[in-house]
Amino acid sequence: MKPVKDLPEGLSRRVGGTRYLWCEECHRTFTEDDVVVDDATFDKATMYAGGSPNLDRLGEAVMMRARCAYPDCNVPLRTRLWSTMRARVGDLPEVPEAGVRYEEPEDAPEAAVAETGQTGSVASEGSC
Ligand SMILES: [Zn+2]
Repeated sequence: MKPVKDLPEGLSRRVGGTRYLWCEECHRTFTEDDVVVDDATFDKATMYAGGSPNLDRLGEAVMMRARCAYPDCNVPLRTRLWSTMRARVGDLPEVPEAGVRYEEPEDAPEAAVAETGQTGSVASEGSC
């Protein structure tokens, strides 16, 4: 398993980022940069990234194989944006603590789709 932030730059910038995600399975948070993919996917993406005319599609393919950043969870990625959670719950911290389980608000409507795919953030280089 390798984090997407270690992918070749053009690709990591597409699929990674500094936004926090909340895992629907383990209820913990991590950044887009810390989402992991299996080694085979990672290697393939690295191999194709250099000459790929369409990094967006490659990024999509990588994200389809993406998994929760916590090794003891590691389920296929189903997340919500932390900012969305905060907007709904209110009393959540701006920056979630790593490893802490944040419970889902009870009156929350079911989120229809994972909100991870469309990043396009440019300001993610050199993030922590
Ligand atoms: Zn998880």
